Amino acid sequence: SKKLEGKVALVTGGSRGIGAAIAKRLASDGARVAITYTKGADAAASVVKTIEGSGGKAIAIQADAVDAAAVKAAIEKVVATFGGFDVLVNNAGTAIPKKFEEATLEEPDRVININVRGTFIATQAALKHMKDGGRIVMIGSCVGERMMTPGLVAYAATKGAIKMFTQGLSREVGDRGITVNNIQPGPIDTDLNPATGEWAVPQKANTALNRYGSVDDIAALVALVAGPDSSYITGASLTVDGGTNA
Ligand code: NDP
Repeated sequence: SKKLEGKVALVTGGSRGIGAAIAKRLASDGARVAITYTKGADAAASVVKTIEGSGGKAIAIQADAVDAAAVKAAIEKVVATFGGFDVLVNNAGTAIPKKFEEATLEEPDRVININVRGTFIATQAALKHMKDGGRIVMIGSCVGERMMTPGLVAYAATKGAIKMFTQGLSREVGDRGITVNNIQPGPIDTDLNPATGEWAVPQKANTALNRYGSVDDIAALVALVAGPDSSYITGASLTVDGGTNA
């Protein structure tokens, strides 16, 4: 049988990019899946349609990661729709690439709000409903551990915070059999980080494999830590970066 049969998962920011791939992968492993999004209603609907087209169950909910009331309501809707809650994937995130000295204060504020505060909000709301043996998965970044290029100062700081949030939280929920892990992608071809263009050149060069990764490379590891084979992995940061940090 499928490894996530009977499980219910929520992927924040699941309408495009890495989050959409995670949602589809968890669904193909048997989970019923909810995704959140902000503006991309059509993209979110098409993820749901793809999952339903292959016999899965999915819903899309508009909920900005920084809106605590909306996120709380989204999680309640997941529980009401699917009758439980097992897996949270904190994927919603953003970057505003530019030299730190040239950024307005509002720019790092926004990055902190979505990447860190948004993760806190969803995790706290999810823990109220999550079943014992549940899974919390962060999408951090390889830059949360090692920084190779300029332009991502505030972003790297938020991903470092996510790494330590993962470690700290793992100590509080272990008695419920809940694991908390942090997947750290390297350069992955998405709207946020396209594999072509000037910005991609140093990122590609920094990998050992001399290429970008795909969204499915990340989804595969998320599926592993969301599943039954990883019950002794917790508090870990697992890097999928083509050797960027090697
Ligand atoms: P994309 O920008 O391609 O996709 C972002 C997704 O998140 C969309 O579905 C978007 O939906 C949603 N989203 C954005 N802001 C919010 C918000 N405030 N609340 C809810 N949903 C939101 O990003 P990626 O797929 O590239 O990145 C996903 C995660 O992976 C992020 O945490 C990022 O930091 C991390 N990451 C990405 C890497 C890469 O190279 N791509 C490398 C390392 C980490 P909508 O359009 O509707 O808002």
